[in-house]
Amino acid sequence: MCQPEKRRLFLTCYAMKKCVFLDRDGVLNEEIGTYVYNPDDLIIPEGMPEALRKLKVAGYLLVVVTNQAGIAMGKYTRDHVWACHEKIQAACGNLLDALYFCPYHPDHDTASLARKPDSLMIEKAIARFGIARDQSWMVGDRQRDIEAGRKQHIRGVFINIHEPTPETATYVARNLLDAADYILSSEGGGRRSEL
Ligand SMILES: [Mg+2]
Repeated sequence: MCQPEKRRLFLTCYAMKKCVFLDRDGVLNEEIGTYVYNPDDLIIPEGMPEALRKLKVAGYLLVVVTNQAGIAMGKYTRDHVWACHEKIQAACGNLLDALYFCPYHPDHDTASLARKPDSLMIEKAIARFGIARDQSWMVGDRQRDIEAGRKQHIRGVFINIHEPTPETATYVARNLLDAADYILSSEGGGRRSEL
């Protein structure tokens, strides 16, 4: 194997990857003020597919990390979460690399370090994909999203819908497309790949 091929193999296998971690409700689908578990109630906001496409072309992994305590409350099941995820994937052309969700709630079944503002879902993805924290971002519409990222030293972009902006957020965005544009402008676009 020649040197360029060895280098390409090394980069493919061992290079740390950059990632945008995404909260779900209020980021990938519209916040409707109640639990979203029926795909028919899941509304894709304008600009979401374009935002994800821009980030993917720039070389980012796209990983969803979402609290789904409605499962602990008995409101819906894991199958509902997967059905909603399939609808989101269909809307964006299967650009999402992984979905992590936390079904637990301390008042209904058990506490969990996976539940945001704790960061176990993010830690699992970092270990699985070899993610570089210092090249990655967390995008969310709740303070607990930004806090979960901060615990892993990952910068946060806060989508400002209904909560005061956390002091630790790097940027406050109007929506996911605004968040994506900020991430890309702050890093000069990063590595490019073809879709
Ligand atoms: Mg949310």
